[in-house]
Amino acid sequence: MAALEGSNKWVWNHVLKLDNFTVQCNIDGCDQIYINRNRKLINRMITTIKEHLYHKHEIWNEEDRLKWVNNNDLIWRYFDKVDLYKEKCKFCNISLHQAHIPFIKKHLQRHHQEIITIVRKEIADKSLSQDFEIDEKEFSALCKYCNVKKNIFYGTDVLTHICSKKNQCLKSMSRQKSKHNNVNRKTQPRTQQSIATENVITSSHHDDINKQVPRNQDQQR
Ligand SMILES: [Zn+2]
Ligand SMILES: [Zn+2]
Ligand SMILES: [Zn+2]
Repeated sequence: MAALEGSNKWVWNHVLKLDNFTVQCNIDGCDQIYINRNRKLINRMITTIKEHLYHKHEIWNEEDRLKWVNNNDLIWRYFDKVDLYKEKCKFCNISLHQAHIPFIKKHLQRHHQEIITIVRKEIADKSLSQDFEIDEKEFSALCKYCNVKKNIFYGTDVLTHICSKKNQCLKSMSRQKSKHNNVNRKTQPRTQQSIATENVITSSHHDDINKQVPRNQDQQR
């Protein structure tokens, strides 16, 4: 369990490794067991153990507590931090006891489609609707210029990324527009003129032919 190293090392003082996937709380009289076979979910398990240590045994790590207190993830616009490793959903008042942001997001995604309405309105208010395509299932917004995908949870502050592609797009669009205008302005008179010249040429040519024909006829005679 490599993830129990570094800033999570202190957790080892309170758990016992049973096998590669299982740890047990080693506080007297507590035999709480944690099993995790999915490497991707290891951080979630560690947070669950921390949450258990704090709420059941009043054991915590000050550095970790400060990290929690100072965590400014924008997810907190939808949740209140009630206590260490304990948050409450502002929509349904449920306490998740998870403290694991991906799982908090999952809760919002599963139960609070109203977030999409909120963000849609925010996007419209800031006239960004043309720039983003919203995927309601994925809770994501896709920048139409650079294909950057942003999580919708974080509102428009995060959506408005520095989009170099957008600037390029708008520049080349305005360049094309002005080119287009120039072309129109210049070619119209030019075409009329060239048509007129062509007419002159053809008519004179016709004249020549007309003149030549009788001359030829004359010569033949
Ligand atoms: Zn315990
Ligand atoms: Zn909720
Ligand atoms: Zn972009």
